[in-house]
Amino acid sequence: MNIPKNRKKTKEITIGKKKIGASNPVLVQSMIKSKFSQEVLLREEITQLINAGCEIIRIAVTDKNSIYCIKSLITDGFFDTVPIVADIQFDHKLALLALEAGVHCVRINPGNIGGTEKTCEIIKKAKEKNACIRIGVNSGSIDKAILRNSGKDSRQAMIDSTLEYVRFFENTGFYNFKISAKASSVTDSIYVYKSLSEKINYPLHLGITEAGSRFAGSIKSSVGLGVLLYEGIGDTIRVSLTDDSVNEVRAGYYILNSLNLRNYGVDIISCPTCGRTQADLKSIQASIEKITSNVTKHIKIAVMGCIVNGPGEAKEADIGLALGLNKAAIFLKGKVLKRVEIKDLLSEFENELNKLI
Ligand code: SF4
Repeated sequence: MNIPKNRKKTKEITIGKKKIGASNPVLVQSMIKSKFSQEVLLREEITQLINAGCEIIRIAVTDKNSIYCIKSLITDGFFDTVPIVADIQFDHKLALLALEAGVHCVRINPGNIGGTEKTCEIIKKAKEKNACIRIGVNSGSIDKAILRNSGKDSRQAMIDSTLEYVRFFENTGFYNFKISAKASSVTDSIYVYKSLSEKINYPLHLGITEAGSRFAGSIKSSVGLGVLLYEGIGDTIRVSLTDDSVNEVRAGYYILNSLNLRNYGVDIISCPTCGRTQADLKSIQASIEKITSNVTKHIKIAVMGCIVNGPGEAKEADIGLALGLNKAAIFLKGKVLKRVEIKDLLSEFENELNKLI
């Protein structure tokens, strides 16, 4: 693992069997989209997320029935290796029940949970259960009094309220917490997280909230999270997308891999195509993405569309494909392995991939 020299060493906290902060790798998180009423889909989604490499799973707890479902998932071993975070809004009793049921973390916004006494009850239960808490401040739900005191500057209000909650948690003697302070604006998120990183040493969970579609959301998240991670800020991340949760995980690893913060899964380099392209590179690239979607080993694959630049680029990869008219060359770690018919390319590629993993 390539930990950048400037990575901020935050305090180490524990969530289930995982550690967050300090020199631990930046972890990829996602959130369940299935409803508790769709139990088969819900279980399938969790399995897919774990297979895709999701390292922390968050789930929205809406009522008491959610707690029963979570308890049965915990009993069935779904969260033995990947910790579960219960997302609680407003109802502190649900946080207490979720902790009692065995979740590894609750995400609360102390500003909307019903006052300091109720927050204290949650902290006490988390301590008792060795669980962690994520203090989640959101630009959309800032405490009105703090907003007034911050001169109606929502960024300052997010910083002020987060610092107030941190002091409150510290005063209770509870330190096993991380912080998120998400805004849908990329620039606001960067500003708030940078400022918090200068002022406190607790792990930060990064995200751009309500980032949008797979396309827009991935770009906004890459810009926001990329700037922060490059500066050494951030201990866990989520790419929030209006899309499948598995794609949130894939996007997360693309961001971390591109900054050399993780080496997870395949890195597919493919050319943009141009007038020289003589094969259907777009569909071949899509098939390769599908074939490799659950590969966890870090493998560099190049898919190039011609014999002009293709071979040069393809040689840099663990497996390289340079496509010509009806034929393609397969490279293995820089050396031409074989030339095959385009119609046989995917099966030949899969054979070579299986040998590597
Ligand atoms: Fe065009 Fe070849 Fe470059 Fe692809 S690798 S963009 S086909 S010149």
